[in-house]
Amino acid sequence: MNSETNSPSYELITIGGGAAGFFGSISAAEHGCDRVLILEKSAKLLGKVKISGGGRCNVTHHCFEARELSKYYPRGEKSLIGPLSRWGAQDTVDWFTERGVELKTESDGRMFPITDNSQTIIDCLMREAQRLRIEIQCSNGVDAVEPLDAEQDDGARFLVHTQKQGSLRTRSVLIASGGIRLGSSAKLPAQLGHQLEPAVPSLFTFNIKHALLDELQGISVPNGEVSIHQSKLQASGPLLITHWGLSGPGILRVSAWGARELAERDYQFDIQVNWLPGLDAAAQVKRLRNEWGKRQLSTRSPFPAISKRLWTRFLSCAGIPENQTWAQLSKHHSQELCTLLNRCTFQVLGKSINKDEFVTAGGVVLKEVALKTMQSKLHQGLYFAGEVLNIDGITGGFNFQNAWTSGHHAGRAIASDI
Ligand SMILES: Cc1cc2nc3c(=O)[nH]c(=O)nc-3n(C[C@H](O)[C@H](O)[C@H](O)COP(=O)(O)OP(=O)(O)OC[C@H]3O[C@@H](n4cnc5c(N)ncnc54)[C@H](O)[C@@H]3O)c2cc1C
Repeated sequence: MNSETNSPSYELITIGGGAAGFFGSISAAEHGCDRVLILEKSAKLLGKVKISGGGRCNVTHHCFEARELSKYYPRGEKSLIGPLSRWGAQDTVDWFTERGVELKTESDGRMFPITDNSQTIIDCLMREAQRLRIEIQCSNGVDAVEPLDAEQDDGARFLVHTQKQGSLRTRSVLIASGGIRLGSSAKLPAQLGHQLEPAVPSLFTFNIKHALLDELQGISVPNGEVSIHQSKLQASGPLLITHWGLSGPGILRVSAWGARELAERDYQFDIQVNWLPGLDAAAQVKRLRNEWGKRQLSTRSPFPAISKRLWTRFLSCAGIPENQTWAQLSKHHSQELCTLLNRCTFQVLGKSINKDEFVTAGGVVLKEVALKTMQSKLHQGLYFAGEVLNIDGITGGFNFQNAWTSGHHAGRAIASDI
């Protein structure tokens, strides 16, 4: 305790030096909070920002309408309309731009720093933390947060038990400890009496062994439609063939929406892929038989979305001889081909973690958090931000947007409570 001023050692202690912890601390300090401390258990700050988006950091998504933006969060969705309308993607863009970091938008809506380097985002956050005199301690994890019986004369409301520095007094605590898949992140909210939605992975790829995909890794289609058998789950987007099966935004999206349901099915289920959504393969084949009658089917792919290598594989999987012309195509072969193109069934045998971006579904249940301020409804002065909450988005910059949004609201509310 600081005996001279008779105030607690800290106005805010933030647990976790990731995107949400930094943004929450910066927001608190910007709005007038003094004596802010970030405690990070590992030796690295902003470790996930560094590796995010393949080293480029997909900061947010070009979607500036809160209701629309909220639709990209399988966990969170409607509850996020309010928070996102008060701090959305445009606020993120403006915040970074005002601090000299320009963002650019790619054709699919993902936004990156123009440097294409996640270090730009790290440098910006570190600079801001330094300018606002935020104290940062690495390799000093928090073992427990102890609420004091009543607010003390000096304003302190919590003791934060650290691994290296004993117990620290603080008026507010921001838990920004990341996805609860790691036990250490789940421990603190649970100790404080918060309910947690159990952790399951989100954003994973599907393991499939099938002759259509064999050794075609690296081939993609710009838009495919994936639906899960015996389920309402469905998503569309680019599909990528990998060594192990199928990946790409279309698969990651359906994995995010189905994170809990697919975990319950132990990642064993059948999917149907439409490689040509919006195109009726049977009608196209009929047209091609008339227009391209004398041409061999294998000469070239008639669909711009399907590469020659993939097209040739469709033909061999449908049992169509290599030298067959469109006019010679039998009814049976035509049906086989159309089924493969529009309704191709694969058996999924398991999942692989997507190496470019993965998140945890699950976390602190939202009904115990006031989403205007991110304050716990169980303890005054306790706040949450980022992936520790039961909020997660599909791939595309939505998970960082959640870190910025929840961090901003928490920081602002913490400052106004001083
Ligand atoms: C490889 C990869 C790439 C990604 N790319 C993107 C992307 O491009 N765009 C996007 O939107 N999302 C991306 N994500 C998701 C995004 O990184 C996360 O959603 C986001 O980092 C969550 O931020 P956070 O601050 O809540 O948690 P984290 O970044 O996980 O930070 C939490 C921190 O808290 C620390 N901590 C935990 N417990 C304690 C404790 N008891 N005491 C002290 N410290 C503690 C942890 O060590 C960690 O540093 C990616 C994820 C991965 C894994």
